[in-house]
Amino acid sequence: AHRGRKHGCSSVSLVRKVRISVTSSLGNFASVRKGFIDSVGNTPLIRLNKVSEETGCEIYGKAEFLNPGGSVKDRAALYIIKDAEEKGLLRPGGVIVEGTAGNTGIGLALVGNAKGYKTVIVIPETQSQEKKDMLRIAGATLVQVPAVPYKNPNNYVKYSGRLAEAISKTHPGGAIWGNQFDNVANRRAHYETTGPEIWEQTGGKVDGFICAIGTGGTLAGVGKYLKERNPAVRIGMADPMGAAMFNYYSRGVLESSGNSISEGIGQGRVTANLDGWGVPTREGGTVDFWCQVSDDEALPLIYDLLKEEGFCMGGSTGINIGGAVKLAKELGPGHTIVTILCDLGTRYQGKIFNVDFLKSTGLPYPKWLEAEYSEVE
Ligand code: PMP
Repeated sequence: AHRGRKHGCSSVSLVRKVRISVTSSLGNFASVRKGFIDSVGNTPLIRLNKVSEETGCEIYGKAEFLNPGGSVKDRAALYIIKDAEEKGLLRPGGVIVEGTAGNTGIGLALVGNAKGYKTVIVIPETQSQEKKDMLRIAGATLVQVPAVPYKNPNNYVKYSGRLAEAISKTHPGGAIWGNQFDNVANRRAHYETTGPEIWEQTGGKVDGFICAIGTGGTLAGVGKYLKERNPAVRIGMADPMGAAMFNYYSRGVLESSGNSISEGIGQGRVTANLDGWGVPTREGGTVDFWCQVSDDEALPLIYDLLKEEGFCMGGSTGINIGGAVKLAKELGPGHTIVTILCDLGTRYQGKIFNVDFLKSTGLPYPKWLEAEYSEVE
């Protein structure tokens, strides 16, 4: 019996040794992302040091610019495509048609490449050249249309819907319309991924979340998830100055009166993604704080973040951080607030990082952006 036990013991330890070495070699690959689709999401949460110190709050940015297509919209793009596949609407070789300010199109084109779909992207001609270039590089067919309001039948969203229908009638693989504004697969991406990630990463110690609205998918999805986990979490909406949502939330009227340099945000209607989830609490939704952020407030935040902390972000991120500062002031010191770092500033280098352009708009710009600036401090 003694010998048997001894024998048993040593074979157990042998098995353990083998298992350990197998697990540790597997462990080295466990975090490897299995291609493009698997690389979407699970982005880091980054402390924004300057605004945290200034407000006495902990302000964190969800680093959505680290998604493989470079923006927060990769998540929505993936969910829109998966939803169409599950519903049997998208077949191999099929076409995805979408109206987009650019980032959703880039996400759709790249997910499309990874899955074997073509993309046709309708974009207002006012959007940045860098996004249009990236769409072409990704292989999307680009249709540029004049930037006209939603009520105009030639608005890029409506145009893309008609184009999708026309292509679906003739293309052998069929075609779907992404319809990101009213397709709730968009907010579901954030309800099922972005929201839970923020909850995990903060260990549930999050007092506020705030972001701007493009489709409303991010605000509605993250807001809904966090509010369900803890009804005391404040959900904030940051609107570019003069956009309609602030007026809608504060006075119930969809009125807009201004223009922002930021792209991809500033919505003029209650989209299906906002409806129910992303409207103020008094109407059964989750949003219970709203504010306006001007370009004059947002741009210095972007320039400081680059010069003092090293992050080069796009304009909508400036609006988001401006909103986070306002929510921090509302909540008072000691609170934890999360916002979204939507995409990289290099996507807008011809605009918000171009002094000549900035001078033509009268917007603030830092001295170091000037070509002749060579001061060594
Ligand atoms: N920032 C940028 C740069 C965007 O492209 C978008 C999407 N249009 C947003 C913010 C807003 O995200 P959402 O559509 O989820 O409201």
